[in-house]
Amino acid sequence: MTEEKEISKPDEPRSLNFIEQIVEEDLKSGKHGGRIQTRFPPEPNGYLHIGHAKAFCLDFGIAEEYGGKCNLRFDDTNPITEDTSYVDAIRKDIHWMGFDWEDREFYASDYFDQLYEFALKLIEKGKAFVCQLSADEVNASRGTDFEPDIPSPYRNRPVVENLDLFIRMKNGEFPNDSMTLRAKIDLDSTNMHMRDPILYRIRHARHHRTGDKWCIYPMYDWAHGQSDSIEGITHSLCTLEFVPHRPLYEWFINELEIFPSRQIEFARLNLSYTIMSKRKLLQLVNEGHVKGWDDPRMPTIHGLRRRGYTPGSIRQFAETVGIAKRENVIDVALLEFCIREDLNKQAPRVMAVLNPVKLVIDNYPEGKTEYLETVNNPEDESMGTRLLPFSRELYIERDDFMEDPPKKFFRLSPGSEVRLKSAYIIKAESVEKNADGNITAIHCTCDPESLSGGEEARRKVKGTLHWVSAPHALSAEVRLYDRLFNDPDPDGHKEQNFKEFLNPDSLTVLPDCKVEPSLKEAKELDHLQFTRLGYFNVDPDSTADHMVFNRTVSLKDTWAKQNQ
Ligand code: ATP
Ligand code: MG
Repeated sequence: MTEEKEISKPDEPRSLNFIEQIVEEDLKSGKHGGRIQTRFPPEPNGYLHIGHAKAFCLDFGIAEEYGGKCNLRFDDTNPITEDTSYVDAIRKDIHWMGFDWEDREFYASDYFDQLYEFALKLIEKGKAFVCQLSADEVNASRGTDFEPDIPSPYRNRPVVENLDLFIRMKNGEFPNDSMTLRAKIDLDSTNMHMRDPILYRIRHARHHRTGDKWCIYPMYDWAHGQSDSIEGITHSLCTLEFVPHRPLYEWFINELEIFPSRQIEFARLNLSYTIMSKRKLLQLVNEGHVKGWDDPRMPTIHGLRRRGYTPGSIRQFAETVGIAKRENVIDVALLEFCIREDLNKQAPRVMAVLNPVKLVIDNYPEGKTEYLETVNNPEDESMGTRLLPFSRELYIERDDFMEDPPKKFFRLSPGSEVRLKSAYIIKAESVEKNADGNITAIHCTCDPESLSGGEEARRKVKGTLHWVSAPHALSAEVRLYDRLFNDPDPDGHKEQNFKEFLNPDSLTVLPDCKVEPSLKEAKELDHLQFTRLGYFNVDPDSTADHMVFNRTVSLKDTWAKQNQ
């Protein structure tokens, strides 16, 4: 087994990752009677991001692959930062990605009673004590890698006294932070997590599910492993930062004699040009650097959906990245490659002009409209054809015309010919300009014979331009996105805050674009390819009177080229 999995090419068969190998060995040895139970345990203190997507694709994926089940468990042990709106957003994201937890939606807070009973058991065994040191005093008592911690003066309190105080803590007799319950493990351990960790603290705060029932709340480490045991999780998959917590979870399992979940750690997903911490993403939202959690520039699942990403492309990305045991950084261009591949197959091609200039065909009759047939997707014949209105006045892209072109400019220039996509060959004859010298119209002639016969018989010219018919065109707003950060590792600078690397040009709004009339029918989040311009979708802000499109990704692929 190799340590690190090479990134495979999408669609290539791959070998088992190390987690699949463990699961297959467990199935072979008949461990837990062949039962496979995983869980995805988000803390509802923010929206899910692409890193979480990778984690739950693995949790749900392993269950699907081996006939097991995956639970959704909200790790809601902190009453202060959690919110039901996050719970709803998380549910929506996982469903949208195509996974289902059926009736197995759990909350760590469902286990507060059971965790309390576990705590009483530890106290009775002499393995936990009520400590009255303040947070500062606990910090001051901490040793180093080479020196043990100084024992708490309360460490050897008799069991009855611990029981009495802990019950009174729970009953609300003491103020916030006046006491904690701590495990009594090993002050000399090389693993800091084993040096009498805090299990409970006092917080007179309302919890979004348990209300005012509790004023003591379990620490994450005390709740997490036991929640796995309570649910009979056979394979508890989490990220590498939990490696040093594992001995503590195992100590709890042994002392409490509860179900032995096995924790297996894998490397977090890190993406270039992206930050992935919920706390920092929340800052971007709260400080108005983005328009919300679903801003199309955000790496959240809500943001990716609004940007035009599909569940299939995100799952393909997670699969392609694979499961590693060591931290690494994935090129964000790979994510863009995955969405391009997916949309290439399914997005209908349509014509839109983002920076329009008028083009007049002087030898085409005034008032005439022809309907020209064009294919919806050359990659998929079953998507059929449609009719495009063509008339004497069109719009083309302003930069598809140059009065004084360089060599090898195969677009339009005075005297040169281009084909209008699915329509005639035209030749530029003259231009009209305004007082500032800007071109206001390009006059052309068309070759009326250039559309006769089949595709094969038609005369060929070097350039093909996209266009829309001016009287039939619809106006639209188009939003173009660039990376939110202009540094590959915005979070990796010691001296500088990640916000210093925000890209001031990450959003460009083009208010007056022209799109073909068939787009009137487009619905929210529909995917399209604007010919020659990229993949786009319909933004939820779009209305019948004011259409709004987002560019999901341009057509230019940087990933496949680098990785050929
Ligand atoms: P963040 O640091 O972004 O706030 P978190 O780890 O605090 O994330 P949780 O809600 O606790 O967020 O995460 C739920 C699960 O998702 C955990 O099992 C965690 O290991 C996993 N996870 C979080 N971030 C990533 C990531 N970048 N790559 C893979 N898995 C991740
Ligand atoms: Mg966490």
